[in-house]
Amino acid sequence: MADKYLKNYINGALIPAESGEYLDNYNPSTGKVYSYIPDSDETDIKNAVDAAEKAFPIWSKMGLEKRFRILNRIADVIEQNMDEFAKAESRDNGKPLSMARNVDIPRAQANFRFFATAILHFSSESHHMEGEAINFTLRQPLGIVGCISPWNLPLYLFTWKIAPALAAGNCVVAKPSEMTPMTAFMLAKACKEAGLPPGVLNIVHGLGGKAGQAIIEHPKVKAISFTGGTETGKKIAQIAAPMFKKLSLELGGKNPNIIFEDCDFDQMMVDTLRSSFSNSGQICLCGSRIYVQRSIYEKFRDELVKRTQFLKVGDPFSSISDLGALVSQQHLDKVLSYVNLAEVEGGTVLCGGTKIEMDGELEGGYYMRPAVIEGLPNNCRTNQEEIFGPVVTIQPFDTEEESIELANGTQFGLSSTVWTQDISKANRVAEKLQAGIVWINCWLLRDLRTPFGGAKSSGVGREGGLEALRFFTEPKNVCIKY
Ligand code: NDP
Repeated sequence: MADKYLKNYINGALIPAESGEYLDNYNPSTGKVYSYIPDSDETDIKNAVDAAEKAFPIWSKMGLEKRFRILNRIADVIEQNMDEFAKAESRDNGKPLSMARNVDIPRAQANFRFFATAILHFSSESHHMEGEAINFTLRQPLGIVGCISPWNLPLYLFTWKIAPALAAGNCVVAKPSEMTPMTAFMLAKACKEAGLPPGVLNIVHGLGGKAGQAIIEHPKVKAISFTGGTETGKKIAQIAAPMFKKLSLELGGKNPNIIFEDCDFDQMMVDTLRSSFSNSGQICLCGSRIYVQRSIYEKFRDELVKRTQFLKVGDPFSSISDLGALVSQQHLDKVLSYVNLAEVEGGTVLCGGTKIEMDGELEGGYYMRPAVIEGLPNNCRTNQEEIFGPVVTIQPFDTEEESIELANGTQFGLSSTVWTQDISKANRVAEKLQAGIVWINCWLLRDLRTPFGGAKSSGVGREGGLEALRFFTEPKNVCIKY
């Protein structure tokens, strides 16, 4: 019962918002309110920043070995409670429990483990001016940083930001999405159990435009790591840039899959189904525009439709569900409206695209059938705007050049996937794709050491591996004449 009312985590304590107000938290699989989250405002953010400011001298000066031990212990606590975290993530977000168990929570644990150890191996450079001087670069923590994450991979993305920020010696004020706050609340408890000193990490719940914006606006927050929509990213940049804050913006995508006739068809089909509909298409890296070489277009189309119709949409807690519920009624309405738009724009919906009305417990949940659409030009809204749901469009192409032009033909540039057995062609295409990530003959294969981020309107800056530690530190050159 106690956890029905979530709390902020400020200065090491679990407390309600100062206003005493709460927001409803919905279970997407039933459409019913099942808990309440603090409706925080700038007063709570101020308290969090004050706590972080007090903690900074201790945390930033703590030896690396001690910081490593505490962060590694947080990973242990998440690992020990994997099942509880996974169930909470699935209930809060609507994603299949199997996905939370196999992807989200293991990765949240890995984020802490990875950055806890990475900081032990992080080093800076020196530049020798022969016979005259030596320069060396100090890499110092920034101070207080803000981390804001979205609802699609809640704990996964939240910890992807928090772990490197803390490892580098910063103190953090963080806000999860108001739609998926539960595992962030559980993380606060894990941090207490692991012995994280008070004020080092502060987690404040609430609305983006209120609590989130107060983090961006606070003058003592030196850097912002944000993952979310491109429009929100623009708003954040408008506020933060004139204050000269360091910014890392991981934004929306409209990712292309290019499928050449010489691909390994069977493997490509397996991965293309995953890249289209994993997490109901609510992964920023999902491929939503599929370009197929004309000679295999019909074979591909028929196979994709057959396999999509076979996917089971249902109770996220059931082991036979491939897709669960979408995150909210509002998001379901948005995704369905894009299916309508596709028809208005002349597309043919080959399967799915309709709401599913469930019975019993699940009545009122936000379910839809995954959709495959063909017959649309590249420049229509359906192919240009991010839908972020279980909807893909398919288009034929003839030549390598045409496939690149189509793939690059949006404002976005997050990720892309190429399927071919010709290694030279794969490399030529990868070189020309305007995207932060190119997968060749695979999808979502991630090595945490690699740079991660988007080109064009998909973002600014890179996270991941040492890039994240560089982002969360200030380089200072010291020049010594001898
Ligand atoms: P939003 O941009 O709506 O929200 C992201 C976060 O920002 C939430 O915590 C939100 O709070 C908060 N927020 C909203 N408005 C403000 C504001 N004015 N100031 C500060 N914070 C604010 O994105 P969604 O949550 O809808 O997530 C989906 C989007 O995220 C998609 O566009 C997707 O592509 C993108 N994404 C990008 C990834 C990448 O790595 N590039 C990875 C995953 C997702 P609240 O929810 O409470 O409103």
